[in-house]
Amino acid sequence: MFNTIKDLEAAGKVVFVRADLNVPFKEGKVTDTTRIDRFVPTVKALQAKGAKVVIASHFGRPNGQFVAEMSLGQIVADVEKSLGQKITFVDDCIGEKVTAAIKAMKNGDVIMLENLRFYAQEEKNDAEFAAKLAKDVDIYVNDAFSCAHRAHASTEGMAKLKPNAAGLLMQAELEALDSALGNPVRPVAAIVGGAKVSTKLDLLGNLVKKVDKLVIGGGMANTFLYAQGVEVGSSLCEKEMADTAREIMEKAKAAHCEIILPVDAVVAKEFAENAANETVDVKAVPADKMILDIGPESVKNVNAKLAECKTVIWNGPVGAFEIKPFNKATFAIAEAVADLTAKGLKSIGGGGDTVSALKKAGVATKLSYLSSAGGAFLEWMEGKALPGVVALEK
Ligand code: AMP
Repeated sequence: MFNTIKDLEAAGKVVFVRADLNVPFKEGKVTDTTRIDRFVPTVKALQAKGAKVVIASHFGRPNGQFVAEMSLGQIVADVEKSLGQKITFVDDCIGEKVTAAIKAMKNGDVIMLENLRFYAQEEKNDAEFAAKLAKDVDIYVNDAFSCAHRAHASTEGMAKLKPNAAGLLMQAELEALDSALGNPVRPVAAIVGGAKVSTKLDLLGNLVKKVDKLVIGGGMANTFLYAQGVEVGSSLCEKEMADTAREIMEKAKAAHCEIILPVDAVVAKEFAENAANETVDVKAVPADKMILDIGPESVKNVNAKLAECKTVIWNGPVGAFEIKPFNKATFAIAEAVADLTAKGLKSIGGGGDTVSALKKAGVATKLSYLSSAGGAFLEWMEGKALPGVVALEK
């Protein structure tokens, strides 16, 4: 359990908010303001309490040096636009300039600090640096769930130095994740796709203990099929992981978790947009072809299983969704999840590629919750403790 903004007495207090404003940025322009827009309610909630709000974030990977192209000063106008008011930018995140700017603040004012990662001590979770960040601060708020898997000075070290709380976005992320894997309404299903089993071993190991049904799609399903003696032609397949795949299936059996593998597949000779393709039974994949998507029978099967569930959590596309027509199954399942959500299914999606796939499928706003985090979402799904979250716990 952690404090939330509601619990704070913040009137007249200096509240340092760690945000993730590492927005996509090209040719001097923010290309997607989602992260800013999702963070702004936290600032407004603190202002409504009469706090003096100090925003801090990292931006890019400057590796501990000042890099003009990675100055947060470049996104001030976008933050102002989303917030609907002027803010003050300070071109440092520690030291006298920050102290002076904070001293000049009135209740409800907002200042934004320069990129935290211009100091190498940030990523080293240096205690002295954390103390400098905390120097003029009364309360620490972490709203950067997407950075919570890193123990950095601004995400972990500093949290321990001041009374702290989760921001609204952090709170929403944690509540959504808890409703999927912590305390879900059952039956609960997980859909896991993506390229390789080897990158999602911990994830699969944790999920079989927690969910009732585990749908496996994407390139990683090939390895599971192969482990069952199915020939997968020239498909992406980690043959050396066959034993591991069998172990996961054993674990699932012991935990009464049903594993759902594809029964048919869309195959092609090359990994290319609009490559000539055919749909075959998984037991009849031609030796010179590769599986690039799960087939329509598999989709039907998956959707029927999801219809039996009350909760679903999704990470990873079930096919090579970037190249048409191998996006079909991912999109069809996405639409089914959206429809079921309208009828009461709790649906949570997250992880880099998954968000992009679900957005492309046009269901981004139709799921119960779409996480804004990549790595942190995955580590949470793997059952790992996130340092930034642990530091907030009461
Ligand atoms: P991940 O980052 O592990 O979630 O993997 C996502 C990637 O898996 C996407 O780029 C997909 O194109 C890829 N992928 C999904 N299914 C397949 C498949 N059957 N063969 C090759 N790549 C796939």
